[in-house]
Amino acid sequence: MKIKTRFSPSPTGDLHLGGARTALYSWLFARYHNGKFVLRIEDTDVQRSNKNSSTAIMEDLRWLNLDWDEGPYYQTKRLNRYNTIIDQMLKDNTAYKCYCSKERLDALRENQMAIGKKPQYDGYCRADNKKPIDHKKYVVRFKNPKEGSVIFDDRIHGRIEFKNQELDDLIIRRSDGSPTYNFCVVIDDVDMNITHVIRGVDHINNTPRQINIFKAIGATIPVYAHVSMILDANGKKLSKRKGALKITQYRNEGYLPEALLNYLVRLGWSFGNREILNLKEMKELFTLEGLSKSPSTMNITKLQWLNQHYINHLPRKYITTHLQWQMQSENINTEHGPKLEDIVTLLGNRCNTLQEMASTCRYFYEELKEYNTSAAQKYFHNQASTSQQSLEVMRIELASIIHWTQIEVTNAIHRASNKLIGGIRTVGMPVRIAITGSSKSPTLDITLYTIGQKRCVSRIDAALEYIKSHNPL
Ligand code: GLU
Repeated sequence: MKIKTRFSPSPTGDLHLGGARTALYSWLFARYHNGKFVLRIEDTDVQRSNKNSSTAIMEDLRWLNLDWDEGPYYQTKRLNRYNTIIDQMLKDNTAYKCYCSKERLDALRENQMAIGKKPQYDGYCRADNKKPIDHKKYVVRFKNPKEGSVIFDDRIHGRIEFKNQELDDLIIRRSDGSPTYNFCVVIDDVDMNITHVIRGVDHINNTPRQINIFKAIGATIPVYAHVSMILDANGKKLSKRKGALKITQYRNEGYLPEALLNYLVRLGWSFGNREILNLKEMKELFTLEGLSKSPSTMNITKLQWLNQHYINHLPRKYITTHLQWQMQSENINTEHGPKLEDIVTLLGNRCNTLQEMASTCRYFYEELKEYNTSAAQKYFHNQASTSQQSLEVMRIELASIIHWTQIEVTNAIHRASNKLIGGIRTVGMPVRIAITGSSKSPTLDITLYTIGQKRCVSRIDAALEYIKSHNPL
């Protein structure tokens, strides 16, 4: 059997973490089995669907490297197909026309609720001997079996049973002629030969209704795997409205697709204790058996840890392309300054995200606009005279270097330290603040070396100016 899975988002918003994870699992399952992965856009809800959202979802999938073999199929382009099947079902007597008015249905619902019954269509128009209703408008309802149960073996949750009595005679075509969601999904899954439906657990209640339609049209029922939900750190269902959950947001914040995929695959799936899995390994190892029944909890620290791992382990050139993108969004011109690859080497261990790296490395490319307030207070105000002395000595040493190499810079720092009573302790901080604007940076020699001789000297001059003007004698 050729395995075929699908990802079928409704284009009513952006791709979120949960959707991306479902797409990943579905994609991995297809890839593991050398099968096919289909992209289907479920846009029958015209009020809520929009083109921008389908374009954005596809862009996010591409960014994540989740490629599809077929599609995108759009449900709105298949309306004739759905209606042909509905007409056939009317002939086959597996569906029927329902002429009940809204008023009748409302009253029925109220009465049922008043006596504590679950609201459900009473099957008035299903009966062969029904009294004719004087209405032109009708919907088409599916003749759901009245007896027995729908039983399916969910690959994650095990045996699941729903009593047919609990299931309504689903409307499959509205009075305006448009087919409804649960029906279209079934016809698509049949026509697209989907063998495995991997989707969110929020769809589990749709499954028995869909299975009954599969049976009614004599189609093969796919295997189902309903992926558990993702909870936030407070144990609440991860909601679209709260927090940074959109894939684009993670991208903007400087997460790598590799890190996000690795994080998502482990969020609900395990392979022993393995935490680090690249895409190739995932494709070789992923099975539905490793998926967890219980909900998973979002842990941003772990995502950051993985991101830093990939920043430091993927080829520098590749990381540089992502960093370049971040530099552009931070409006930093990288023409005059160190190569971005060197920045990755320098800051890889100090930054969790590439956005952090981009904003941290600004001082390599742009003149300083200000000093960190508390650092300046301590070193350029409270300890102004010691700092002034250190900066003056250091300026002379740096300016006198003929061949600007890292070794020469290290030697210059040693010479300056030897000349000062407080040694290296008095040199480090004032110089660091003078050339980076803050008290945090990679080791001083590498930082100085990377910034370059001319910039270092002029920044020390500027710091000396600052100290003098803020601490008049
Ligand atoms: N369109 C549905 C959604 O976006 C998915 C339906 C399915 O996978 O069957 O939640």
